[in-house]
Amino acid sequence: MVCDYTDLVCDYTDLVCDYTKPVDHLKIYFSEQMNTCEYCDVSFTTNQSLKRHYGRCKEKEKRNLIVHYHSQIEKYEKQLQEQRDHYEKQLQEQRDQYEKQLQEQRDQHEKETRLIKEQLSEFKNQIFEIAKQPKTNVTNHTTQTTQTHNNRNTNIINQLAIYDLTQDQITQLLAQHYNLDTFHGGPEEIAKLAARLLLTDPQTQKPKVACTDISRKNFKYVDEEQEVQVDPGFQKTHDLIKEPLSKANIRVYVEDLNNDDRYRDQWRKNEDFISDRTGFSDKMIKWMV
Ligand SMILES: [Zn+2]
Repeated sequence: MVCDYTDLVCDYTDLVCDYTKPVDHLKIYFSEQMNTCEYCDVSFTTNQSLKRHYGRCKEKEKRNLIVHYHSQIEKYEKQLQEQRDHYEKQLQEQRDQYEKQLQEQRDQHEKETRLIKEQLSEFKNQIFEIAKQPKTNVTNHTTQTTQTHNNRNTNIINQLAIYDLTQDQITQLLAQHYNLDTFHGGPEEIAKLAARLLLTDPQTQKPKVACTDISRKNFKYVDEEQEVQVDPGFQKTHDLIKEPLSKANIRVYVEDLNNDDRYRDQWRKNEDFISDRTGFSDKMIKWMV
């Protein structure tokens, strides 16, 4: 290898070259190129010194890499936690909002239901009051209708026994007759007992209430002045008998069955039936047509 530098600067290394020994300089330069550590780029004059260095440098590099990755992992975990917190916060806010909306809707719904119930109750009272009013025939063209009406009423009067029920009497009758069989027989037996015991005259076996219009749930009875009266929807009769029945039902459960939890469902079922006017009158109808 010949050195042809004249300006004393090495083409490869940019170092000032010792003019007297240019060949030695290049020798050292090229051998260092071949003995460079791949981890830290430090060069060595001999392969042996590179090998000595290499063993230490490799371990150090590994440790550095581990430290580096650990710090990366920590960074990502922190980011992840931040994102999670963010989404949880959003989720909680949404949930709060939905719950608030739901509560508002529920309140509104309850308010409407209450209003409707009040209106319904008022409406029922009005119907009942109207139905109770005695019929007055003021115009000529209703004469024929009134005649038919009177005939029908006469029929009803003949068919029915006097509606002479009082709650005390009912309570006394039920004390004797509402027994374990009635209790266990459920709605069917309770309806039968009410029809035969409470709403039938014991002497004549005539019913005290009749259903005159099944589709409209219209009932009629004859009062103590022999006047035909209507009981729309069975309301009046139901109001009269539901409380004594309910008391008799609980008496059997408490006294005869010693509050035994096994019969609680039956008590509940009977009670639900007794207090449900529609269901009650529906079952009573077959005994009263
Ligand atoms: Zn190295």
